[in-house]
Amino acid sequence: MGKNKDMNDVVLEAQHLTKHYPIKKGLFGKASNYVHALEDVSFQVHRGETFSIVGESGCGKSTTGKCILRLTEPTSGTVTLDGQDFTALQGEALTEARKKMKLIFQDPYSSLNPRMTVADIIAEPIDIAGTYKTRAERDARVEEIMQAVGLDLAFKYRYPHEFSGGQRQRIGIARAIVLQPELVVCDEPVSALDVSVQAKVINLLEELQDRYGLSYVFISHDLSVVKHISDTVMVMYLGREMELADKDSLFAEPLHPYTQALLDVIPRITHERIQDKKILQGDVPSPTNPPSGCVFHTRCTKCMKVCTQKAPELHEVRPGHFCACHLFDESLSEAERQLSLDPTLVAQEKAQETGAEVLQD
Ligand code: ADP
Ligand code: MG
Repeated sequence: MGKNKDMNDVVLEAQHLTKHYPIKKGLFGKASNYVHALEDVSFQVHRGETFSIVGESGCGKSTTGKCILRLTEPTSGTVTLDGQDFTALQGEALTEARKKMKLIFQDPYSSLNPRMTVADIIAEPIDIAGTYKTRAERDARVEEIMQAVGLDLAFKYRYPHEFSGGQRQRIGIARAIVLQPELVVCDEPVSALDVSVQAKVINLLEELQDRYGLSYVFISHDLSVVKHISDTVMVMYLGREMELADKDSLFAEPLHPYTQALLDVIPRITHERIQDKKILQGDVPSPTNPPSGCVFHTRCTKCMKVCTQKAPELHEVRPGHFCACHLFDESLSEAERQLSLDPTLVAQEKAQETGAEVLQD
């Protein structure tokens, strides 16, 4: 967790980020449909904090990361970096701004050129940017960064295949921070590593954050890691923002039924408790054809009539604790609050409205 976080200083702001990936039929076909990967997502990242994005596979975490970095262009919405509209930048200004934001991803190996030495791999970003005028300065920076990420200087002229998974991730981290970025998007950075190595890499990320004042957007499906590293947590489901709060409030008092279900499946310490964990019923619906109303309603144990009809807006339920769920909407009518879990229940309710009789089978 960022010890030097400044909650009054916003380094990155995403506003109404939306991404629809076209699905094309045939070679030259027009888009016949769209994957709703991201739908109106807004949040702020404060300087020095770790802002985590959690949710099941396919909920839009990586798409959020890619839109922030403009590795993919958002369909709509904006990203503001240091008060500057990053989404509007072009050419030289974009190249300059890009130096402030870097990416660490799950599998660094695929991005490490097998024919380059570790020193050259780490130096590549500063070589391209032409940061240092002399070779000696450049080499000194590489050594400094290698030491900062815990890589032995004796390995300078080794090649990527000679390293373990954890060491390769250290190389990936070194490359990401060598240009002194302000913010790093870490997309499942430890998911491919052994549990024993995960802790070391997480500790390293925290150390680097404190030393360099880095802000992190930390993407993970692993809530035990998120619970350890985060300052703020955003929970996503089917491309939507379901809940957003500081880490302590979110884990102590999860408001959204989806968040509650997610927290219920964190592995428990005792065997006894593992057995009474509740697991979410049913499959995640398709993001090509998301459910009406609240996208979670098909799996929600508290689904009300209104949930099938109207998408809930994210609103501040408690100070600093945001949730998109009708359960916290006090303006709902009694009819809208009717539970809507069982089709016969719905039929009975309709019948009551019209005064008709319900046939029981
Ligand atoms: P996560 O990182 O949470 O697992 P992603 O952001 O990778 O989720 O994906 C969100 C949704 O968008 C998924 O349904 C995924 O299949 C879809 N998707 C991701 N990238 C593309 C793409 N390039 N083209 C079409 N669909 C995509
Ligand atoms: Mg992903």
